[in-house]
Amino acid sequence: MNLTKQTKLTLVYIGLAFLFSVAIRMIWIYQFNGYEPFIFNNQFMINTNDGYYFAEGARDILSGVSQSNDRSPLTSATSILTAFFVKLLPFSFESVILYMPVFLSSLIVIPIILIAKNLQNLEMGFIAALVGSVAWSYYNRTMVGYYDTDMLNVVLPTFLLWSIIWAVNTNEDKYLLITALDILVYRWWYPASYSLEFAFIGMIVLYTLLWDRKNLYNYKLLALMLFAMMNLDGSIRLVMVLGVFYIFKQEKFNKYIYYILGLSIAAFLLTGGLSPIWAKLQGYIFARGSSALGENMALHFYSVVQTVREAGKIPFETFANRISGHPITFVLSLVGYVWLVLKHRVMLFALPLLGLGFLAYEGGLRFTVYAVPVMALSIAFLFTQSVEYLSDKKSVQRVLLTLLSLLVLLPNIYHIYGYRVPTVFKQDEVKVLEQLKSIASREDYVISWWDYGYPIRYYADVKTLVDGGKHSGGVNFPVSFILTNPQEVAAKMARLDVEYTQKRFLAKGNFASSNIAQMSKDYGYDDSNDFLTSLEMEIRLPQKTRDIYLYLPYRMMDIYPTVKVFSNLDLNSGVEYKRPLFYVTRNFKNNNGMVHLGNNISLNLKDSSISIGRSKQPLRRFTSTQYDQKGKLQVQEKLMNFNAQISVIYMKNYNTFLVVDEQTYNSTYIQMMALERYDEKLFEQVLLTPHVKVYKLKI
Ligand code: MN
Repeated sequence: MNLTKQTKLTLVYIGLAFLFSVAIRMIWIYQFNGYEPFIFNNQFMINTNDGYYFAEGARDILSGVSQSNDRSPLTSATSILTAFFVKLLPFSFESVILYMPVFLSSLIVIPIILIAKNLQNLEMGFIAALVGSVAWSYYNRTMVGYYDTDMLNVVLPTFLLWSIIWAVNTNEDKYLLITALDILVYRWWYPASYSLEFAFIGMIVLYTLLWDRKNLYNYKLLALMLFAMMNLDGSIRLVMVLGVFYIFKQEKFNKYIYYILGLSIAAFLLTGGLSPIWAKLQGYIFARGSSALGENMALHFYSVVQTVREAGKIPFETFANRISGHPITFVLSLVGYVWLVLKHRVMLFALPLLGLGFLAYEGGLRFTVYAVPVMALSIAFLFTQSVEYLSDKKSVQRVLLTLLSLLVLLPNIYHIYGYRVPTVFKQDEVKVLEQLKSIASREDYVISWWDYGYPIRYYADVKTLVDGGKHSGGVNFPVSFILTNPQEVAAKMARLDVEYTQKRFLAKGNFASSNIAQMSKDYGYDDSNDFLTSLEMEIRLPQKTRDIYLYLPYRMMDIYPTVKVFSNLDLNSGVEYKRPLFYVTRNFKNNNGMVHLGNNISLNLKDSSISIGRSKQPLRRFTSTQYDQKGKLQVQEKLMNFNAQISVIYMKNYNTFLVVDEQTYNSTYIQMMALERYDEKLFEQVLLTPHVKVYKLKI
């Protein structure tokens, strides 16, 4: 092959930038080298919860397992691609999911450099690739172990931008096809890519109307993009795109282009191409409309949104840092973008990416990544243009460019060095799940809070009631109820909710909108609160179809109040009950029998009282736990005052103090996790470790 000098240089720049991007992502590996708690199966574990969702899908694709209603994403692009890599490459599953983000996200350097190549400025492309590949928020969402769709979510639209720019600039046929194929891949990878594609279409329409109305090529491009975006199955769209491309290749069909464009618009609209936009609008308008409705029973569940901090405006500095690494870089990049557009009109096509990135300023940090490649190109353009004013000598320009690039890279690399994200689970927790996998069957349920749903399913190969994608107020309610109520009602609810979850799958829509509403109805209650109270008496439980396990991790200690809030309300009115007392601390000081627990709370061991703020109350009991030499948990409970409300638990080996009211003290979580006390009629021990306690339901 005879490569031109230009092409060779492009390849060298791409290679170098790619290596740079990969090398920077290895800093985390180097920092935690050999750190056992992060390692499982001789490899680091991933650090994003949602990743375990795709890992579950890939695992099942590889083993050929398909279970109905287990929520394993067998058809998701991420899972399919992962399974493909595991088959193809000589690395372990654990290694593939750990490093996939590193290598896939580093592909961003290719479209960045190719865009610059089109603008006849390869040096700009190289600098932009270095900056863009490691910019703050792009790094955060594509670092090693950040195994999620993010690893290609910016790469694919940047490729789309590249092919649109090349298409418009060269009018070569092949870019028609590449653009359409990119849309197909992007949609396959990330179905929500729709809005961005739509914005690109809008830009091309504007561009054509303003400056290039007579050019048939633009209409071909639009038609192909619309066919690629129809609301039909991917394989049908692929066939359409290839067929229409074949027609466009032949000049004799040129006179039909407007008809074909018309056809593409009609096909796009008729297949419901606009429906995602309608759905979004309706979502905005009716967002606070209905809550979970039973047949004739309107239950008010707690909304997850209420627990997430209101997504307020983020400070400008955070916003700028996340896009460019530093506010000065950010402002200079903006100047660079304006200059870039004045010099190269095609860079207007970058507006959708930029716009989506800037939406973050109003609506949440996660969008900032989209602005990264464009802003990187902009700052690089500013630099390469400015140095030409400063000196005529190529060598002086090079030195200046190197210095400026380093200045821009430095804050980003500094951030990366300090960004030591832990893995989702620790080795000791995963060991428990590994053991549980050999005990529980694939159809059994493991009940735990939704934060642990995906990892539990991945490591233990079981089913869960709630997870990172299924945690609305209605499904969280029973789980919250189980974890924070006494064992007797918790056990009943566990059996009820698991069997009702399965029944719901089979009922195919003929079911109340929440399990609680359906249970209330089946047990003859008009009032769900009454039904919950009835659990304290004898009731006939549904037929047992499988085993149920409770997974109680120590780490849930920190979110107990959040767990509780989901079942601590009147279902008819939605009014919250009084919040229970729950205080946990690992930071305390013992001063002559006065234990200061922080937050103005102190425990007086001499007169067995507790002071919270200014109020001093007698202590009901003081309970301490400690592992003996055989590794068995010993619990000492001292009852002080039967009329008092507040108890203190001291978990010596955990260096943890808990201050709780009576209700919390008697909850399934505290009794069975902290004190290892369980009702032998209802539960049996399965795995008890300091990190996690697993019990099996007997009823
Ligand atoms: Mn499964």
